Amino acid sequence: MDGLRAAFLDRDGTLNVKPPPGRYVTTPDGLALLPGAAAAVARLNQAGWVTVLVTNQRGVARGLMTEAALRAVHRRLLALLAAEGARLDALYSCVHQKESCGCRKPLPGLFLKAVADNPAIDLSRSVVIGDEETDVLAGKAAGTRAVRLAPPGTPSTADHLATNLPEAVNWLLTAGTARSPSYPGVRGDDVRLGEERNLPAGHPNVSGEPQDLCSADRLMDSS
Ligand SMILES: [Mg+2]
Ligand SMILES: [Zn+2]
Repeated sequence: MDGLRAAFLDRDGTLNVKPPPGRYVTTPDGLALLPGAAAAVARLNQAGWVTVLVTNQRGVARGLMTEAALRAVHRRLLALLAAEGARLDALYSCVHQKESCGCRKPLPGLFLKAVADNPAIDLSRSVVIGDEETDVLAGKAAGTRAVRLAPPGTPSTADHLATNLPEAVNWLLTAGTARSPSYPGVRGDDVRLGEERNLPAGHPNVSGEPQDLCSADRLMDSS
């Protein structure tokens, strides 16, 4: 059986309004979803993609917020998504200082941890979606395809540029399928990219509650 497709989603600037440079979302009330973001995640859910949050949150290492505060922000994120029928299957956060770990994007550690926790994920059939080139580089290092949320013409090694998450998901679920055979650059091996199917019933690491974070970064309550 083919492995599962995962959509690795950046957080700030992809799912929610991005704080100013050097600032962090430190309280649940500080988190605001971007327009259409929840609906886009719901489309991924319905199409059978595993949805995995991968986020750098160095504000923890800098002492600007606690891990408990980050957990509270993520509970709020899940609640806002759930209110629109959307779900994240797993959340992974790097809470470390620069150059002190293997999981701060552009390094691929968060992606690799996700696969270690759910070996059914096939990175070669997966994608990262993020607003920064470090998201793209992390996905490429892990072996995924990449969609960068950036204006047309932005220099990037991404496979595709989109202006927001809804557009990125629309591209993901239509490019390379019979529904949009004219997409330029589609090759034969891309033909199943947008295939929609249901997750295998009862897969232990996919259905149900979001999985734990990095072992060092358990930022979601297990309850
Ligand atoms: Mg971002
Ligand atoms: Zn890290």
